[in-house]
Amino acid sequence: MSLMHGTGITRMRFTDGITITIRFEESVIACFEKHRQLDPKSTEAGGQLYARYSEGEVLVCKATGPKENDKRGRFFFLPNRKSERAEIRENYADGLHFVGDWHTHPESIPEPSIKDLKSIRNCYRDSEHSLKYFIMVIIGTESFPSGISVSVHNEKESVLLLV
Ligand SMILES: [Zn+2]
Repeated sequence: MSLMHGTGITRMRFTDGITITIRFEESVIACFEKHRQLDPKSTEAGGQLYARYSEGEVLVCKATGPKENDKRGRFFFLPNRKSERAEIRENYADGLHFVGDWHTHPESIPEPSIKDLKSIRNCYRDSEHSLKYFIMVIIGTESFPSGISVSVHNEKESVLLLV
C-alpha cells in the first residue's frame, strides 16, 4: 500500500484465492491523520468506513466519527451502536456500503488488540451484509505508512495487510 500521495492502495489474497484491492480516498486518509493520538492526553477516536465498489476494487470513500455519544478514553473507544446502525442505513440509501471500522491507538506502530479482533469478528457475524470480509483500520502515532494497520476479517480468517 502506498500512502505517499495521501491515497492508499493495498492488495491481498485470501486462502480461497480471492484477491482484494482496497483503496482509500484522500479525505479518508486526512480523517485518520487528524485523529492520531499525538497529544499525551488525547483519547481514542474511531468510526465507520464506507465504500463504493468498482471493477474489482473497494474504494473506501468515507470515514465517519468520532461522535459525541461515543465513550472514549486513552486506551478504549466504545462507539454508540444505535447511532452506528442508523448511520449504516443512511449511507446505504446514498449508495455507500458499510465495510468496516477504524480507530486510533496511543502507540507508534498500531496492532489490533485481542479485543479488537474479537469485536470485528463478532461484528462480521452479527451484521446483515453480503461482504466476504470487514476491514479494520488502526491508526497509531507514527506517520503513514508505518503508523497505519489495515486488516481484513471474517469468521474464519484475519489477515493483516502489508502497507
Ligand atoms: Zn484497538
